[in-house]
Amino acid sequence: MEHVDPAQPMMVVRLLRGVVGETRRVAHLVPAHLDSALPSELEALCGELLQAGQAELLPGLRGMPCDRCLAMSARRLRQGLVRAS
Ligand SMILES: [Zn+2]
Repeated sequence: MEHVDPAQPMMVVRLLRGVVGETRRVAHLVPAHLDSALPSELEALCGELLQAGQAELLPGLRGMPCDRCLAMSARRLRQGLVRAS
C-alpha cells in the first residue's frame, strides 16, 4: 500500500446498476486525483479496479459501503487519533 496523504480527497464510487449484481454494488472509496483527468480505470482503496464507464460518482457514502475500503481508510486515520491511555 502506497503512502496516502491523510488530506487526500476521496471519491465515493459505485458500479452502475446492471454491471454487477446488487450485492456487489457497494460504495468504494477512491483516492481522487484532482490535478489530472479522470482515469479510465479507478483503483479503490480495497484494490478493486472500477472501469470509469461502468461506475457512478456518488455525492457521499450511500447505500452499502465497501467493508474493505472502510477498513483501509480507518487504518489510515489511526495515526491521527488520540490514544486513550
Ligand atoms: Zn472497496
